[in-house]
Amino acid sequence: MPSRSLRVAVIGAGAAGLVAARELRREGHAPVVFERTDGVGGTWVYEADADASASPEPLVTQRRSNLDASLRTNLPRECMGFLDFPFVAGPDGDTRRFPGHAEVLRYLQSFARRFDLDGLVRLETEVVRVSRETSGTSWRVRYSRKASGSEKRETDEEVFDAVVICNGHYSQPHFADVAGVDAWPGKQLHSTSYRVPEPFHGQVVVVIGCGPSGTDISRDIAGVAKEVHLASRWSLSATSEKLPGHANMWLHSEIDRAQEDGSVVFHDGSRVKADVIMHCTGYKYNFPFLTNDATVSVDDNCVDPLYKHVFPPQVAPRLSFIGLPLKVVPFPLFELQSHWVAGVLSGRFKLPSKDEMVRDVTAFHSRLAARGWPRRYTHRLRDREVREIRPK
Ligand code: FAD
Repeated sequence: MPSRSLRVAVIGAGAAGLVAARELRREGHAPVVFERTDGVGGTWVYEADADASASPEPLVTQRRSNLDASLRTNLPRECMGFLDFPFVAGPDGDTRRFPGHAEVLRYLQSFARRFDLDGLVRLETEVVRVSRETSGTSWRVRYSRKASGSEKRETDEEVFDAVVICNGHYSQPHFADVAGVDAWPGKQLHSTSYRVPEPFHGQVVVVIGCGPSGTDISRDIAGVAKEVHLASRWSLSATSEKLPGHANMWLHSEIDRAQEDGSVVFHDGSRVKADVIMHCTGYKYNFPFLTNDATVSVDDNCVDPLYKHVFPPQVAPRLSFIGLPLKVVPFPLFELQSHWVAGVLSGRFKLPSKDEMVRDVTAFHSRLAARGWPRRYTHRLRDREVREIRPK
């Protein structure tokens, strides 16, 4: 039986925050979920108005959502559901196995309804600061929200026994460093601004990055663009090659430089005169509300130190992070991490001692370094996912 019931602040009402709230409540805690926007679902809330053609400032620094209009899931729906609430096709919804983004939002909204979570969520309430109380075991959460009956915002503070951070990591774009780009006359965008292909009609577009966004967006744009050139650091070919099945799409090695005359030169020596460079180069972890009390820092996109990507050893278990890992099956991972956090907070599961956790983190980083992995790959689990999170 749980021995402790805590009041817990959950930051964010995306998939991670919703399932964290459910797990915390199941364990007997009292969660309060802070969500800065006006609805639940996080990433899966589509923002049509972010159409790249309309954006006066294409190098955006932050967006709530980065879905393009035609985005379908890159995982089959069978892998996307929470363990006891499968993502099954309803009679009126999008019944495809890889459904469109609106279906995922519907799923998350019905998850919130089914587990009666909406009442736990404080919408349009942004957490602006999280600091540790002098007692060392509780956290002061400062938040900003719209004042009732006015457009003005007001701030307030509350003290919680624990904080679970579920603020997502797909809103702060990371841009590739391209030598010479300041003098290059074309337009630069990040995938976060991409919605529809039409603005790229007849243009020559260089897409940096061959991850899910880079490949999806390239294919989307290729239907209307004159040419699409994909630049990939993983390209094995020493020369540029036309991609099979596409009349107007090429794969290149990385970009070497961009030039004043409008050309983009690749490492393999090939060059194209381009109108647009689209950065499909991922996102940065960002926790603007955290003070030094949290004892973690972000360096080269590595959040450190974190025991098993969840707990900062110095302040565990009263502060935790859900959903940091990349290259994973996200929803079930969020659920298992949340289950772990909730159980550790109640005292049902035990963490190792602080020193043991620190040693584990150090050994983990040494293993990655020995393999030659840059720090920015710290949270990429890939095939380590199951082994890393399976309870012993
Ligand atoms: P988010 O969905 O980003 O939610 C975070 C929430 O926190 C947001 O609602 C935000 O408003 C809120 N927030 C942030 N800061 C604060 C604050 N200070 N105060 C209050 N609230 C705050 N996953 C899949 O499983 N399948 C897919 O096919 C798939 N496709 C994807 C395609 C794209 C283009 C992207 C970007 C991601 C995709 N993902 C996919 C991964 C997806 O991000 C995760 O599935 C999941 O939705 C992330 O949930 P989250 O709760 O961690 O973050």
